[in-house]
Amino acid sequence: MRTEAGQMVPNRAGEGCIPEILRNLNSLIHELPDRIQSKPLIGGPFGASGYVLASMGFTLSGLHCVTYIVFEERHWVAIGAAHTKAEALQQGRAFIRHLGPHRVAELAAQIAAERVASAVVEKAARAEEAAAPQAEPRKKNAVPRRRRALFEKFGGQCYYCACHLELADKWHIEHKLPKALGGTNDPENLVVACAPCNLRKRDRTDTEFEAIERPALKVAA
Ligand SMILES: [Zn+2]
Repeated sequence: MRTEAGQMVPNRAGEGCIPEILRNLNSLIHELPDRIQSKPLIGGPFGASGYVLASMGFTLSGLHCVTYIVFEERHWVAIGAAHTKAEALQQGRAFIRHLGPHRVAELAAQIAAERVASAVVEKAARAEEAAAPQAEPRKKNAVPRRRRALFEKFGGQCYYCACHLELADKWHIEHKLPKALGGTNDPENLVVACAPCNLRKRDRTDTEFEAIERPALKVAA
């Protein structure tokens, strides 16, 4: 359909996948509107129905980039986004031209409502997450069952220097055959070690380490 002015008159049948395109565009810049509203805008409003060109800086793969976004100002829903002002404006204007300002406003209201709904869902999920760890602190101080079992197996002593360790302290679970040499987490390969022994042992096997270090350690003890 064409008006006397020669413009496309939008109708819902002719919209095709435009609402989906706008939704995708807005899902990509989901969290930006809040940030942009608190920042100075470039370009300012344009068009009679209140559209705004805004810029947003962000870092992509370590490079600083700027994206220009055209918003429908009432709902802060994006109708154009590009790396140049010209392209963003062109995209925004194409949507307005094709759908008409009224339909753009309707779609923007819809997308904004969906955004609020998903924010509510996210907020609820976050609140649930925040509430869950309440049971955690007691757990946090508890020694994991396997760590405790290993500690008890070695009588709370360092396998190498036989120094006395405290269960709650930061003693190390040591791989007799180092992981670097193919050692596994199999209980048979695990021993209890004090930090100094474990750090001195590095990537040596228990046999190598004992041959070099243990006599000295024994004398010292
Ligand atoms: Zn030790």
